Amino acid sequence: MERSNISVKSKRTENSGLSQVDWDNLPFGKVFSDHMLVLDYENGEWGTPQIEPFSNLNLHPATSAIHYGQSIFEGLKAYRTVDNEVAIFRPDMNAKRFAESCKRMCMPEFPPELFETCVQAIVDFDRDWIPKKEGYSLYIRPFLFATDDYIGIKPSDNYKFIIFTCPVGAYYAEPLNVKIEEHFTRAAAGGVGRAKTAGNYAASLYPAKLGKEEGYHQLVWTDGKKHEYIEESGTMNIMFVIDGKLFTPAEDTDTILPGITKRSVIELAKDWGMEVEERKIKVDEVIEAINDGRLTEAFGAGTAATIAQIKMIGYKGKHYELPAVPEREFSNKVFHHLDAIKEGRIEDKFNWVVKV
Ligand SMILES: *Cc1c(COP(=O)(O)O)cnc(C)c1O
Repeated sequence: MERSNISVKSKRTENSGLSQVDWDNLPFGKVFSDHMLVLDYENGEWGTPQIEPFSNLNLHPATSAIHYGQSIFEGLKAYRTVDNEVAIFRPDMNAKRFAESCKRMCMPEFPPELFETCVQAIVDFDRDWIPKKEGYSLYIRPFLFATDDYIGIKPSDNYKFIIFTCPVGAYYAEPLNVKIEEHFTRAAAGGVGRAKTAGNYAASLYPAKLGKEEGYHQLVWTDGKKHEYIEESGTMNIMFVIDGKLFTPAEDTDTILPGITKRSVIELAKDWGMEVEERKIKVDEVIEAINDGRLTEAFGAGTAATIAQIKMIGYKGKHYELPAVPEREFSNKVFHHLDAIKEGRIEDKFNWVVKV
């Protein structure tokens, strides 16, 4: 297999799991395709990407990533278009973000071109695993972790890059009850919140569990200093429509993950002539807009759900019910529009889709 000037070796499995897949029942992240792509970083260089049968890893107990957390990941999707082609949504953006995450976590910077080549190669190799039903897709999980077998704090010299894929069903996100978090912090200024690194998710589990016990599906994270400004919702970016304008917290900080779904929603909104404000957003401002009836939509944006509607916001013990989901003109439209681009039902005028 040859793409650009990067070659990828491959070895096909002798026991495909394809015939055992229940295509009508694909719980997210539990069904794995036949192969994975593996690439090691050793002696200061990236090796040759190798596609091999999906299997367990054999790791030294002192594997540095497990102890000290140099571990980053990405998440993106491939779709089967209405013309039965295979399309990946904006992999160049994931490649760029992956390289940024490497830098922050003191890992060797993964070349974006190599990233895109590897993603395309594994999707192509396991293309029979891309579901054919509308709304279904192939979730792609690239990740990189430190593999030195050494107990001591230092950047690892060796790393392993892997991509595996999971066929997934249409993600129906039930409208969410969210709580504006006033004690715990996802990311502090100067920290690693902008990187898609494993520890960020571990740190969010306990506060999220407490929120669940109070009946909230997710938390809305606020700034680590005073919990005065809105940052993200769970593992999604957060967006509001207030007075007909689209608002989202600016990502020119190191506390907010620069989401690709959010960026795409912004680009579509602007294209449709909607005003967009990316800036710091005060919690009080949002509560006031709800009270005045000026806030008409609130939603999370991320690859898994695309758009996850928020139906209620909890803040300081009060519940704020938001306008009914079917009445939300912008977010419903943007959701269907993004799906239509990915599935090739409308023109991809921004060239977001890469065909494999
Ligand atoms: C991945 C992620 C997002 C969403 O990014 P997408 O590129 O849209 O999937 C937002 N916030 C956090 C914390 C994330 O990990």
